[in-house]
Amino acid sequence: AEQEFDVVVVGSGGAGFSAAITAKNAGAKVVIIEKMPTVGGNSLITGGQMNVPGNWVQKQMGIEDNIELYIKDTLKGGDFKGDPEMVRILAEQSLPAAEWLRDYIKVEFYQDQLFQFGGHSVKRALIPKNHTGAEWISKFMAKADELQIPIHTRTTAKALIKDQSGRVIGVEAEHNGKKVIYNASKGVILATGGFGANVAMRTKFVPELDNRYGTTNARGITGDGIKMAEKLKAKTANMGYIQTYPICHVDTGVISLIADSRFFGAILVNKEGNRFVEELERRDVISRAILAQTNQQAYVLWGQEIEQYAHTVDVHQEEFEELNRKGFMYKADSIEELADKFGIDKQALMAQVARVNQFAKAGKDQQFSHRGGLKTLLKPPFYMLVAKPSVHHTMGGLVTDTHTRVIGDNGQPIPGLFAAGEVTGLTHGTNRLGGNAITDVTVFGRIAGREAANL
Ligand code: ADP
Repeated sequence: AEQEFDVVVVGSGGAGFSAAITAKNAGAKVVIIEKMPTVGGNSLITGGQMNVPGNWVQKQMGIEDNIELYIKDTLKGGDFKGDPEMVRILAEQSLPAAEWLRDYIKVEFYQDQLFQFGGHSVKRALIPKNHTGAEWISKFMAKADELQIPIHTRTTAKALIKDQSGRVIGVEAEHNGKKVIYNASKGVILATGGFGANVAMRTKFVPELDNRYGTTNARGITGDGIKMAEKLKAKTANMGYIQTYPICHVDTGVISLIADSRFFGAILVNKEGNRFVEELERRDVISRAILAQTNQQAYVLWGQEIEQYAHTVDVHQEEFEELNRKGFMYKADSIEELADKFGIDKQALMAQVARVNQFAKAGKDQQFSHRGGLKTLLKPPFYMLVAKPSVHHTMGGLVTDTHTRVIGDNGQPIPGLFAAGEVTGLTHGTNRLGGNAITDVTVFGRIAGREAANL
């Protein structure tokens, strides 16, 4: 079967939806194809926070921020290996992208709360309702529905089709074991995400990240877009930079959203009862530090003083129940009880907590200079969960230009081929900062949609 469209978008995460909706609004006939039975990819299962310097919540909270500071933080966070031009676009387009999400897509953001992820100088991440990507993916679906953009699930893109001049003119896909051709008169947008769930592909670049590591990624995140484009001699960059997320479930590898209490002062301790890293350090630094501890695990600890601001137990009740049932998380009236549950050195832990309380009161963390400021751990209930790192984000991917055109090995754009989101490889350098993926996929997804539609 053959189907005719102007723009074919491959992948239904944040980048794919942003691109498809923008292309449709620019007048193109658009389709989204998605290999999984459901839409959303990694974008659905993230916490969904989005960095936006100078955003409306910052203004209301009296937080000073600006584009230049965000650029500086992002470049530094990626060890200055990120492309400054791409980072500038990310920063400059973040506010219009967020306003578009808020006003047009109708994503609900909390109006009185922000996140400060590791590596950011100030609180600048907007928080979607319920702290999950489900908020924006569900709103994207509603908008796609309203605009009558077809979404073909269980449809896997297998290869890009080009004409004799080398221009990309469509996608060969598979649905129920049958071949389907999607012709694209204007362009194909790859929004297939990274390759964190593809063990063979990731160990090719970083042998250490083998099966011992879980992944936070959705199952479909296997580097397909990169592989399809490489067949057309597309250039890749930074493929060896693969980020682990430090705080994930020890059994499934899934990212722990309940442990986002860390951004509000929850501490990390080891089996011996001691802190071992600054809790708001970069993800790679914390991950490596955890892997150096007994059993390659960390314990996240917090109490009511933190929960009253973080609300993570409150909003992630299901996660709590599952972890609790499996013996990976407990709630208790005393910290001693938690130490007993996990077999942590009790005396050492109580001594450590006493020091944290002292540092919190003095406003100075003499152990690790916690950048957010420590909070006291005095008021019950207390919470503790065990966690370990797992493979999270692949910073590398396709080389694109500022118009999201995919660049070939001759340094020229491959006509008709665009890419946005985690499938691309220039923005984040060695290490993507928390909250930058949502900004990335929305900003560059919108550019890809506009560019492809206007071809
Ligand atoms: P991003 O954050 O860059 O938008 P996501 O991980 O959220 O990326 O979404 C990528 C989506 O692309 C996932 O839903 C994934 O299942 C889908 N996908 C990956 N490879 C293919 C493919 N070959 N054909 C169709 N969809 C794909």
